[in-house]
Amino acid sequence: GAGRHFTYDQLPGRVVFGAGRVADLPAEVERLGCARALVVCTPEQRDTAEAVAASLGAAAAGVHDGAVMHTPMETVDRARAVAAELDADCYVAVGGGTTIGLGKGIALDTGRPVIAVPTTYSGSEMTPIIGLTENGVKRTLRDMKVLPRTVIYDPDLTASLPAAIAGPSGMNAIAHSVEALYAENANPVSSLMAEEGIRALAAALPRVVADPGDAAARAEAFYGSWLCGAVLGCVGMALHHKLCHTLGGSFNLPHAETHTVVLPHAASYNAAAAPEALARVARALGLAQAAEAGGGLFDLAASVGAPTALSAIGMTEDGLDRAADLAVQNPYYNPAPVTRDGIRALLDDAFHGRRPT
Ligand code: NAD
Repeated sequence: GAGRHFTYDQLPGRVVFGAGRVADLPAEVERLGCARALVVCTPEQRDTAEAVAASLGAAAAGVHDGAVMHTPMETVDRARAVAAELDADCYVAVGGGTTIGLGKGIALDTGRPVIAVPTTYSGSEMTPIIGLTENGVKRTLRDMKVLPRTVIYDPDLTASLPAAIAGPSGMNAIAHSVEALYAENANPVSSLMAEEGIRALAAALPRVVADPGDAAARAEAFYGSWLCGAVLGCVGMALHHKLCHTLGGSFNLPHAETHTVVLPHAASYNAAAAPEALARVARALGLAQAAEAGGGLFDLAASVGAPTALSAIGMTEDGLDRAADLAVQNPYYNPAPVTRDGIRALLDDAFHGRRPT
């Protein structure tokens, strides 16, 4: 090419990172000029959210534990009503992508700030993206109102993450960075962050899964997921994310697990068309060749005990033809041409859990 050529929209936002730093929350709420925080969570994380609310003292307006996977619109309506009733002036989301999605859903309506305290590696805390499910259809919007104003990454909060959630969640994060490296609007900064995010997560995830008590590994994994979330927020995605959206939405497959299974195959599908991007993925995994990236991602998933076959996470073989049809319905950017036959073959490999070679 004729030298560098790119556009980079850097997102605003403050990141507070480190073990124990959830203790900074009261000061961060005050810093935003807020005094009545509604803490949102899932029912499973009610105790954590209660402790966070207690730390806020009089600045806590209440705790709402109504977060549900894929953000059904009725759960957003309910949370908006609770926020209005309690006269909340900001929303503190303590949890994974599901909970952060609910906080974003309230903010989409009111424009008041979201403060995210993530406890998984989903990356939602770094993006202005919200997925809302209505009448069984999940649509995705981008709106700066939902981008969390402040994000507090406290690795201590991930100590309770079961290995069965941590592994797929980390692979979900890596997927953002793999696609960021071959994004249509990739830029030098997003690519640096993406490669470093994969490197940090690939090194730390096996240690986190083997021993959730390993504080250094948890911090390194969270650092990686921050970088991966940041690139999801600032560049466009491609085949992998479209395919996972289709499989999740139309076949009701679990989010992080679907990403885990599809990623090695999507990477492999794009390896010849985006050799420099996949060479960086391979390098981040400690491998020499772009062609090894897919296999390396498959091995990483297997090494953390995450699923490697769609057949193992609720997909049925007779759905593969319809999934392939849906995946080619609307054209979108991808390094390699998206063909019906190519996608059908990819899905077959992913269904049976074949390791890309
Ligand atoms: P999740 O938020 O659904 O969490 C999974 C389960 O783990 C929940 O029961 C949760 O309460 C529990 N959990 C979370 N952290 C825990 C912890 N530290 N200890 C114990 N239990 C814990 O899962 P997820 O993968 O983080 O989020 C998936 C959702 O996020 C999907 O709906 C997806 O579409 C969305 N998402 C959105 C974006 C975005 O940018 N908008 C990005 C990624 C994911």
